[in-house]
Amino acid sequence: MATGFPEREALLTRADLLPLLRAAGPDLDALYRRADDTRRRFCGDAVPVRAIIEFSNACFNDCLYCGIRASNPAPERYRMSPDDILAAVRSIAAAGTAGTVVLQSGETPGLHDDELTAVLRRIKAEFPDLAITCSVGNRPPEVYAQWREAGMDRFLLRFETSDPELFARLHPGSTLAERLDCLRSLRALGVQTGGGFMIGLPGETVDILADNILLCREFDFDMIGIGPFIPSPGTPLAHEPNAYAGDPEMVFRALAVLRLANPDAHIPATTAFDALRPDGRNLALQRGANVFMPNATPRGLRRHYQLYPGKPCIDEDASDCALCSRARLRSLGRPLASGPGHSLKQSRLS
Ligand code: SAM
Repeated sequence: MATGFPEREALLTRADLLPLLRAAGPDLDALYRRADDTRRRFCGDAVPVRAIIEFSNACFNDCLYCGIRASNPAPERYRMSPDDILAAVRSIAAAGTAGTVVLQSGETPGLHDDELTAVLRRIKAEFPDLAITCSVGNRPPEVYAQWREAGMDRFLLRFETSDPELFARLHPGSTLAERLDCLRSLRALGVQTGGGFMIGLPGETVDILADNILLCREFDFDMIGIGPFIPSPGTPLAHEPNAYAGDPEMVFRALAVLRLANPDAHIPATTAFDALRPDGRNLALQRGANVFMPNATPRGLRRHYQLYPGKPCIDEDASDCALCSRARLRSLGRPLASGPGHSLKQSRLS
């Protein structure tokens, strides 16, 4: 095992993290090796696969960075019917690669909440062994409770940035405090909870990045989703570069430090890593990430869920992505995990 790196217990303050977030040369190589060791020790080599269905791009929000924000006229809006969602879940189950299905969409508070409840019940009735993660934004605790009761196992809700002013600037009409309350209410309901952030939002500093990592540590999330901010056409930030545009290693440094500070969290190699460079998700799996999330959205709809440009696999279908996941893991010498890939924090599993 590499030495000279603090254990999780010592990664408590910004000052503890900043030297790691500035590592270069041999220190950076050592940081990546240490993150990979930590991932292996706490999560193992087997990679849980979660297939994501982007079931709707309808959104009432106007997040300044997001390609499907309400005031972007470019995306053709769609919403998959419950039958189409079930059909997509059946193909995922038939491919046998993923133990979890992730249902993600834009945010339409109140409008389709009961419909999602019915879809969750249908998926659980047909596939009781498949775990279900939802990622559909802020909702009141009653709605999360209704989904939990209908079979939702997990929920992903990135806090995006730990800086309240930056959050308010990027999310008109919404606050960081509200987002964190949603995460607390999910946790209180016994839902396996995932937070996370974008790396390099315009206005982010390395201090804020360190605080993002510390906030994940404080919440002790079951899952943590991170990825680089990628300027998206048709948004107010289309021409704002990533805050670390001149330092392409920063996104991987952040991932590696996140792993050291959160040894037993599930951390996916998210698609945005591939938008950065073609081998981005492979590198992520070697520098701290332990989960893979292939796209299982029907082929014809993928082009309409362009949160940012360069999103991979938009001309493929779910079976291509299942095959490609297997080939990717084989090339990395990492076995596919069996089962649903629940939280590694045993105390959270009821
Ligand atoms: N509406 C749900 C929510 O807000 O949690 C889920 C969908 S939302 C589009 C999923 C994630 O996409 C966000 O949490 C955000 O981090 C990411 N995202 C959106 N625009 C992005 C961009 N330009 N670059 C990188 N990630 C982006």
